[in-house]
Amino acid sequence: MTAPAQQRPRTARTFDVVVAGGGLVGMALAYGLARTGRRVAVCDGDDTAYRAARGNFGLIWVQGKGGRCLPYAQWSLVSSQRWGTFAAQLRCETGVDPCFERPGGFELCETVQQLDEGQRLLESLRERDAGLDYQVLDNAELRRRIPAASSELAGALYSRNDGHANPLFTLRALHEAFQARGGVYLPRHDVTEVIPRSGRFDIVTTAATLEAERVVLAAGLGNARLGPMVGLDAPIAPLRGQILVTEKLAPFLDYPTLVARQTREGSVLLGDSAENVGLNDGVRRDVMSDIAQRAQNAFPLLANARIVRAWGALRIMTPDGLPVYEESQTHPGAFIAICHSGVTLAAAHADVLAPWMAGGARPEVLDAFTTTRFTASSVNQHV
Ligand SMILES: Cc1cc2nc3c(=O)[nH]c(=O)nc-3n(C[C@H](O)[C@H](O)[C@H](O)COP(=O)(O)OP(=O)(O)OC[C@H]3O[C@@H](n4cnc5c(N)ncnc54)[C@H](O)[C@@H]3O)c2cc1C
Repeated sequence: MTAPAQQRPRTARTFDVVVAGGGLVGMALAYGLARTGRRVAVCDGDDTAYRAARGNFGLIWVQGKGGRCLPYAQWSLVSSQRWGTFAAQLRCETGVDPCFERPGGFELCETVQQLDEGQRLLESLRERDAGLDYQVLDNAELRRRIPAASSELAGALYSRNDGHANPLFTLRALHEAFQARGGVYLPRHDVTEVIPRSGRFDIVTTAATLEAERVVLAAGLGNARLGPMVGLDAPIAPLRGQILVTEKLAPFLDYPTLVARQTREGSVLLGDSAENVGLNDGVRRDVMSDIAQRAQNAFPLLANARIVRAWGALRIMTPDGLPVYEESQTHPGAFIAICHSGVTLAAAHADVLAPWMAGGARPEVLDAFTTTRFTASSVNQHV
């Protein structure tokens, strides 16, 4: 017979919460959980794992999200608004600066039709929530704000809610802040099995077996295998994005855009591709060439910039693109977290989601993000 959790002795392998996955979702949750005073361990994979957290673009983006699901737009806005305090706290606790800035972001439009379509979407969002405001800029106004933008662009949509950060420094800061609060990070501990016991879970990994009262599945694409072990559905598929990085250039872009953003160090990240290629995180010359061409159409000065790095990475996509945050009905204490905007949502994950997973009240906004929506007859394809 299993002894109740409170009667069993605590060991080095016993935790209040074990988080599976040490990407941006897992670490933001683990940091938030550690802040609630829980004893937390993160079991992570190794360098061969698919890791979106180490291959993304670094946008904190609200504009245009949630066209058919207002709570998603609001959830992204909440996170974007919390990011300043979140970044400051990480910097203060670790000395690592996530390089967060929120000057507002631009969606650049090559044609008048793109500008009109984007404006219609943003206007319908703004009508439902005044916080989701935006501006439509013609080419002259765009170039007044970004002189390096091409005179060939039709214009741009601007929203003050958007920003960007350095995702690698953010991840590093989360790791350091988590461990400074007593969190235990275990790399090369792939979770192979989660076994529900009465009132607790055994978490079997490739290196050791841990025990916890709660388990959070935040293993990116690995969630597809882990979810069903605790009665949770993880309907996910990879969607590849490719990114190019230029040599360091003199500052010319003070704002993030969907096609290019300039880092504090001067290099420019290019890319907004999306390919259904399964578990393949490589690169393709035609896609890279298309990314480079579109960036050059937007900013002609990039024609002379040298590309110094390029990579592919896999997004973690649900069928409708919305996040999934759910506690198991059959095994309470087991949670799953899935999303494709783990940079944008990092602050909300740490501040709002983690306290719920630690045992607090369930935030109402999460009603929109359960898998019950996939049983409804129509699934949104555009979020
Ligand atoms: C090209 C690209 C551009 C992007 N741009 C942006 C952007 O601009 N803004 C934004 O908000 N988001 C962006 N994203 C998304 C963002 O990167 C992810 O949402 C974010 O990284 C969070 O992912 P994750 O933690 O869920 O998964 P990952 O980062 O993939 O991490 C999963 C972790 O789980 C571990 N793991 C897997 N299986 C197991 C297991 N069985 N046991 C233990 N550990 C396991 C892996 O080792 C890995 O460390 C982009 C993604 C891509 C690919």
